[in-house]
Amino acid sequence: MMTANRPIALVTGASSGIGKAAALALVEAGFDVVGTSRDTSRVAPVDGVAFLDLDVASDTSVSATVQQVVDRFGRIDVLVNNAGIGLTGAAEENSVAQAQGVFDINVFGVMRMVKEVLPHMRARGGGRIINLSSIFGLIPAPYLAAYAASKHAVEGYSESLDHEVREHGVRVLLVEPGGTSTSFEANSTQPDTPLPVYDKQRRVADQVIAAAVRDGDDPAIVAKAIIAAATDTHPKVRYTAGPMAGRISTLRRIVPSRIFYSQIRKYNRLAG
Ligand code: NDP
Repeated sequence: MMTANRPIALVTGASSGIGKAAALALVEAGFDVVGTSRDTSRVAPVDGVAFLDLDVASDTSVSATVQQVVDRFGRIDVLVNNAGIGLTGAAEENSVAQAQGVFDINVFGVMRMVKEVLPHMRARGGGRIINLSSIFGLIPAPYLAAYAASKHAVEGYSESLDHEVREHGVRVLLVEPGGTSTSFEANSTQPDTPLPVYDKQRRVADQVIAAAVRDGDDPAIVAKAIIAAATDTHPKVRYTAGPMAGRISTLRRIVPSRIFYSQIRKYNRLAG
């Protein structure tokens, strides 16, 4: 085992997008960083980041990977649960199996990681778990319903867990990005039971999602919020990432629902 002088961070899904930017930023911030991918043989090396294979949808993979990190470094100071996947289409066009697949990664993947890492953090009396939510963990996302449901679940789980583990020196924090320029949309699963009745509106929704990601924030902006969550002396439960996410989060809290929902319909170019 290496005796680590620097704090150790484990970032799931560090092969691309936000996870990769977070891994790089954590190296810059003075962490020894372990990043993961389902297939590390296909990952381009990232300076200062050691890669391990991990599928957060598999119990055995999660437990083996966390054990490898602990064997090698002796501890985990920061866990960034970043791995996630989208699912597009109208809710009625997604089979239950598809929705379960998204939850298995976005929600149960987070829970699997927490259950493996938390005993090590508790034993040392400290640590931070940073869960990637989304602005869609706070507001409705038509034509991304299962995805929005998964991020709402991450919000409720994280906020509840945070109250359980504070007395053990561990904090559970949320990072909430808005549209961010990554391969997220390209990697999203398409509906497996498309229905003609939703064709027109689904095409509009796909354009709205594609534009939000294409014209979205640089992943480095989200990485900055992750670094703040990892290092702030007095961390906040929620970190919105980027100006748009901050504005939406505030509006959600202060604008009456009727007005907020009419804006949601307008933004998503929904009929009626
Ligand atoms: P990317 O598609 O670029 O990255 C997703 C990452 O998740 C990849 O590195 C992938 O790694 C990993 N991943 C996917 N499935 C699994 C799995 N079963 N086990 C382990 N790792 C997995 O998207 P983003 O960087 O945009 O997404 C990162 C996070 O940010 C997600 O949680 C997403 O929901 C959230 N987010 C993104 C927004 C955006 O607009 N882009 C907005 C708000 C939140 P690999 O394929 O190498 O295994």
